[in-house]
Amino acid sequence: MVRVRDISINKDRIQYFAELLQNKNYLIEMATEIRERRYGKNITYSKNVFLPIIKRCRNSCAYCGFSRDNDFYWLPLEQAKKTLQTSKKFGCKEALIVSGDKPEKKYSDVREYYEKQGVSSTVEYAIFHIRQAIKFGLLPHANLGVLSQEDWSLLKPFVASAGLMLETTSKELLKKGKPHYASPDKVPDKRIESIIWALKNKIPFTTGILVGIGETVTERIKALLIIEELFRKYGFIQEIIIQPFRPLKNTPMKNSAPPNNEEIFTITALARIILPSKISIQVPPNLLEPSQILEVIEWGANDLGGISPVTKDYVNFEYPWPKIDKIHKILEKKGLEFNERLAVYHDYYDFVGENVKPLLQEINF
Ligand code: SF4
Repeated sequence: MVRVRDISINKDRIQYFAELLQNKNYLIEMATEIRERRYGKNITYSKNVFLPIIKRCRNSCAYCGFSRDNDFYWLPLEQAKKTLQTSKKFGCKEALIVSGDKPEKKYSDVREYYEKQGVSSTVEYAIFHIRQAIKFGLLPHANLGVLSQEDWSLLKPFVASAGLMLETTSKELLKKGKPHYASPDKVPDKRIESIIWALKNKIPFTTGILVGIGETVTERIKALLIIEELFRKYGFIQEIIIQPFRPLKNTPMKNSAPPNNEEIFTITALARIILPSKISIQVPPNLLEPSQILEVIEWGANDLGGISPVTKDYVNFEYPWPKIDKIHKILEKKGLEFNERLAVYHDYYDFVGENVKPLLQEINF
């Protein structure tokens, strides 16, 4: 049994980094220096296709625009096949496979649907889509919520990489009237434990923090320090996402204010300073104004994540991805390169699932 309390956070470090967040000149200088030393002019992205395989979830996050309570949406394999075919024409190399968190635990119609498909869990169901994506030459990156040790072991042979955002260390946000009320999978310890099992399974991994849903600055710093600790103990974290909260219509948080620029930039820089330089710092460009793309880079980001020329971002569906060419031009003016990478980073090629290895060799990137 993994014991989350084994992860130690030194209070003096939290205090030190809280003070550092006030020193903007130092933050930007340090973050730029670390990024330039490790990544030079190289800013990366992954050309992907987003497959929302089942849009139901047992959680009820107040900002969520993905899961649907009253309307059971699943992505039929045939429809996914057409999307995969189109995505190949656009040169996509990653299939981002996303589901809500264990919807079978809450909804009887999901259970019935799974039964008809001959599966009993979202992970088993996802493997259908993942196998199909591999067949069409796309590297699967799975984001299926909080998974158990058994789930991660089941998934490992089929994925190039996977992700689970830590999001926050705040327990306060689980209380009634707060964003994570009635969301059992948002208990921070549970998420940490699930991440540990993924890392123990040697899955090239993405995690990160959600900024601006009501967490305190201390909780943000704690989340970054926990990720650092996880990397030092288990490795395999290839990137972290700094995801700014963006309000979405038809959600209880539709009128909540998003974090301001300074909060996003300074926490990006702090992530760059806290985390080993081997871990990429990613900020999704569709959650930024075009002018902010260069700024997050200046504050330490070196990766703009998955960008799809074919599908929308089904999580932040009101925020379209900018065109890849457009970002290219923005970066070029500042002497930066915008280069494609795969869903799995080069250092982790040996750790993709057995079913993915032949495809990775074929792509030969
Ligand atoms: S866990 Fe994700 S999909 Fe589920 S309600 Fe929360 S934000 Fe939505």
